[in-house]
Amino acid sequence: MESPRPSHTCPACQTPVLDAVAAFCSHCGRPLVPADSPRAKWHQSVGFLLIMIFFVLGPLAIPLILKNPRLSSRARWILVGVALLYTVAVIDAGRRMIASVTSTLNTGLSF
Ligand SMILES: [Zn+2]
Repeated sequence: MESPRPSHTCPACQTPVLDAVAAFCSHCGRPLVPADSPRAKWHQSVGFLLIMIFFVLGPLAIPLILKNPRLSSRARWILVGVALLYTVAVIDAGRRMIASVTSTLNTGLSF
């Protein structure tokens, strides 16, 4: 039976892993821990992060993204970019809504 953490070598390329808490191989970049292992916690899943970004925390979810050991550094920056773009879009939509309501009120008062 396969161990969830096979000694201290990368399961993909067999390179020795020096960092005991590394989630990704420094040589080939593949995850050292299978996604369904007990070490993969529910709050570290990408789906949970996306829910936090879009419905709960917005840009405040960025620390969660940066601290997530299951994401590669590239995936982290993509998610940070998504969070920032979403924040800008929400702010812009809010500004437009206020402008729209203001102009509706102004024209409504003049008839
Ligand atoms: Zn490797």
